[in-house]
Amino acid sequence: MEKIIDEKQQGNALVMQPKAGNGKKLMIESYGCQMNFSDSEIVASILAKEGFDTTQSLEEADLVLINTCSIRDKAEQTIRKRLEKYNAVKKINPGMKVGVLGCMAERLKAQFLEEEKIVDLVVGPDAYKDLPNLINEVEEGRNAVNVILSKDETYGDISPVRLQSNGVSAFVSITRGCDNMCTFCVVPFTRGRERSRDPQSIMEEVNDLAEKGFKEITLLGQNVDSYLWYGGGLKKDFKNASEMQKATATNFAALLRMVAEAHPKMRIRFSTSNPQDMTLDVIEAMAKYPNICKYIHLPVQSGSDRILKAMNRLHTREEYFELIDNIRRLMPDCAISQDMITGFPTETEEDHQDTLSLMEYVKYDFGFMFAYSERPGTMAARKLEDDVPEEVKKRRLTEIVNLQQKHSHYRTQQFVGKTVEVLIEKESKKSDLHWSGRTTQNTVAVFPKEQYKVGDFVNVKINDCTSATLIGEAVGLSE
Ligand code: SAM
Repeated sequence: MEKIIDEKQQGNALVMQPKAGNGKKLMIESYGCQMNFSDSEIVASILAKEGFDTTQSLEEADLVLINTCSIRDKAEQTIRKRLEKYNAVKKINPGMKVGVLGCMAERLKAQFLEEEKIVDLVVGPDAYKDLPNLINEVEEGRNAVNVILSKDETYGDISPVRLQSNGVSAFVSITRGCDNMCTFCVVPFTRGRERSRDPQSIMEEVNDLAEKGFKEITLLGQNVDSYLWYGGGLKKDFKNASEMQKATATNFAALLRMVAEAHPKMRIRFSTSNPQDMTLDVIEAMAKYPNICKYIHLPVQSGSDRILKAMNRLHTREEYFELIDNIRRLMPDCAISQDMITGFPTETEEDHQDTLSLMEYVKYDFGFMFAYSERPGTMAARKLEDDVPEEVKKRRLTEIVNLQQKHSHYRTQQFVGKTVEVLIEKESKKSDLHWSGRTTQNTVAVFPKEQYKVGDFVNVKINDCTSATLIGEAVGLSE
């Protein structure tokens, strides 16, 4: 049972409101992490200016873009299968052009054109502004590739088109790339080095969302706590910044405070936090502002010091516990979730037991757990043999998934009998008579619709729960 929160919407074609255009129809499908969904909104915005309308129908599309994920081999296989489907449609509609965007485009570059004959266009995550030129090339009958990674591209000047939005929650991208160099991870190679977006452009985007009636934003980055604006440029070059730049730099805690203060009625979330970069001032800011949601996604990957070191995670199990203790001390009601990898090279039964005992200590509210998948070019692939047999990886995965299920249920049970604030997002999947929303802790709650509507903050009395969902009834609008 492999699961990732971001994959709930995998492959959804995203649609924006049509306007007078060039008569061409674009279909854009997104796979992978929240960053990819957010990037697709940037791409749609760039192409809307070129007159493209979006469609959900492959048969109708003149241009099909697939925003791809490389994080595990399985993610890439999913994309390859999807390309086979495009190929079948292209046989009927030879005029249809196919472009591959995102991490898989960056990883495979021009090789994609040889391996997948139907692909006309390959564009890496930092090259989306070049799409209009690249599409022209393709229309003139040439294949086009741009996989140049950038030192300063943050798309800060592009106002994303909100695709398939509920009008309530939106992503706001604040950093791009990653400098962490976890040995298992392909992200630094596919998304480049870490850089932060100008806080002023972040604030403008948030202000615009607030004006449009959005109620919740999620500040996005591979490692948000590492956010650092000092006038532009790579994070790794901060050491060469001028004294003035250093003195006036904005870090993540400052950005968080700025957004929370400017919009006290808006819920603020962020993702993802890397334990080594999460500082006490971020936790203090969270504790201070009621509108910063009490939820931290804090991937740990393993509970074993030896494996953490081999993964280059730059913190120990003890340091992780200290961080958890600080979070619980300042915010006893804060939910915490994990990402975990089983079967990293050399992982022993003892290492696995360390992971289970770490989980017992934290009792995470949610978790996203994966069997290790060797990624070409990563340090682990180059230096370590993928030596844990597949059935052992799978068995360990089942054990941690089962333990997480138990802890999730323990956490949801704590809410039964209590009244919690829920922001209504959509109709419940299981019943058109119920709303579905989330608590500040990010736990899903469902309750009868009554007179309430999407976007309302409602106090909900929780009467029952499953391991993933709170079930209750509304007792009134919250303040
Ligand atoms: N930036 C975040 C971090 O550092 O924790 C998350 C990045 S990644 C998009 C999401 C998750 O995928 C990771 O936290 C990790 O658990 C998992 N993952 C990454 N590389 C993997 C690999 N080679 N095999 C299995 N899972 C992997």
